[in-house]
Amino acid sequence: MPYTTPHDPHWDPLLEAAWHAWEQAYAPYSHFQVGAALLRGDGSIQVGCNVENASYGGTICAERTAICAAAAQGLRPGDLVALVVVTQAETLTPPCGLCRQVIAEFAEDLPILLANRHARALHSTSELLPHAFTGRNLLDSARTAEELP
Ligand code: ZN
Repeated sequence: MPYTTPHDPHWDPLLEAAWHAWEQAYAPYSHFQVGAALLRGDGSIQVGCNVENASYGGTICAERTAICAAAAQGLRPGDLVALVVVTQAETLTPPCGLCRQVIAEFAEDLPILLANRHARALHSTSELLPHAFTGRNLLDSARTAEELP
């Protein structure tokens, strides 16, 4: 099965794409560059990089730029196969909490490879965000509301 181990060669095109995106990161304030690459079910790869803003709250992470760009091209839940996140940080960089939530919207058990230039670690959405709040919770709530007198 591809994407089940951190050194599976299937990761290589995604890693290459993520590093290209990393080079494009717009990080003039933190200088903390992040690249991401998503593999979709149709075999296409969507990349993202972090984009900072002088109004810090306007900053968006690499994972979310990739997902938003893919959504603009029709991404829907169940359409993701794998995600790679790369930085040059010594400690591998996991998605932040907000990105974990956004990833879970589209893939609750996505393989997520974290990498720098010499190390890799494989995780999954469900491991990084256990007991995620999802659309099911909203549907459960709507059903409960319908049952009220
Ligand atoms: Zn994030």
